[in-house]
Amino acid sequence: MTPATTWAAKKRRPKSRRNKSRIVAEKAAKGSMKDGGPRCGSPFFWGALSNGRCCRASMRCRMSDARTDPKMRQLLFALPFLLAATSAAAEGLFDLSWREVAKGVFVGGREDALRYPVVANTTIVIGRRGVLVFDGGGYAIQGEQVLEKIRAETKKPVTHLVISHWHGDHHRGAFPIIEAFPEAEIIAHRFTCAAAADGPERRVEEGEAELGATYAAVKDAADKGVWFDGSTLSDAEKAYFTRMVADFPEYGTQLARMRVLQPTRVIDETSIIDLGGKKATLLYMGPANTAGDIALYLPKQKFLATGDIVVAPTPYGFGSYPRAWARVVRQLASLPAETIVPGHGAIMSDGAYLQKLAALLDKAADQAEAQKNAEKPVFDFADDMDAFAEGDAVRARLFDMFFIEPIGAAALNEAKGEAEKNEPLDGAVADLCKPRVSGAE
Ligand SMILES: [Zn+2]
Repeated sequence: MTPATTWAAKKRRPKSRRNKSRIVAEKAAKGSMKDGGPRCGSPFFWGALSNGRCCRASMRCRMSDARTDPKMRQLLFALPFLLAATSAAAEGLFDLSWREVAKGVFVGGREDALRYPVVANTTIVIGRRGVLVFDGGGYAIQGEQVLEKIRAETKKPVTHLVISHWHGDHHRGAFPIIEAFPEAEIIAHRFTCAAAADGPERRVEEGEAELGATYAAVKDAADKGVWFDGSTLSDAEKAYFTRMVADFPEYGTQLARMRVLQPTRVIDETSIIDLGGKKATLLYMGPANTAGDIALYLPKQKFLATGDIVVAPTPYGFGSYPRAWARVVRQLASLPAETIVPGHGAIMSDGAYLQKLAALLDKAADQAEAQKNAEKPVFDFADDMDAFAEGDAVRARLFDMFFIEPIGAAALNEAKGEAEKNEPLDGAVADLCKPRVSGAE
């Protein structure tokens, strides 16, 4: 996690660059319509989460009912969350740094929040009766570091592993913790349990099977200095994507080790776990970044871990529910938390970023509501790009790829009352989610 202060006071991107991006986006959108449908400007979109619809463009987004090429969609779906790394520190790809934010409450995360693959923050809560882990890790090497940290801090057993949402970077590497503590309960929202057992997880895995081709395309783009939408890459962006390609072998090694854990307990609403001296409140406030997001709140410690309901400095919009999400973010911001741990990014000490995020999400929902019957909806987030990227070219690129590209489709589905298309399941949640008995293999 990078200290929030390093994000401040960056130079604003000149207006001329903004206008250039807009023109490039519009040109690309026009060209793509000839092929019968819009194409994404980058390989990093979760088309499958938005029912195959691809929201085209950088600053603006044009929509159509046409689907993108299924093979391309599968290929591009591969890269779940993105990153950006401008720091040249010698930090390893999966190295966690730890902070004790309250007595017996430890937060681990990678300092460089943007590097790809992104690494989710992990929280360890040590109570008198046992240990609760919130988001045990997306990669086994992360889960192993979490386990090592727990053993360094306490002899108490892990009694609860909570999964914030179904995206694999939060749980597919947590199995070393469960192997060490097989009696621990694995807790997730019912939708999370279903999505991890069904289409959403399967589509990610299908995309991951094609990662070699995706990375070859990224290498080509970085070498040429031209991104998939025809826009020019700055030196910082080229360096970012070049490092991403260099990190691929190590990423691949960890991908091969991933394992999806089957929850032992599913929840449908807010639940409290008494760990002894610490009351872990698992907050469920409705759909947000996914349909099953759980946040962890410790009232006495004034501590909040949000999962990907909050991601900084660049939110992820894939398959989300912007209007409902904004409400959830405001509810979280209303809590008297003094330590706020986002799903990815630096620890925060107040709700300022949450307010900024909620306003952005409402803006997406407002634009979708106003255009839900339009033939070619156009979304405009130019001012928001400045507010979130603060003049940093890599952050601007990631804001475009991870928020602007996917958010239009998600917001339109939500505005039309078709939000279930944003994370399509192949069956009923009740059939898909079959919690196993705790401790059983
Ligand atoms: Zn995440």
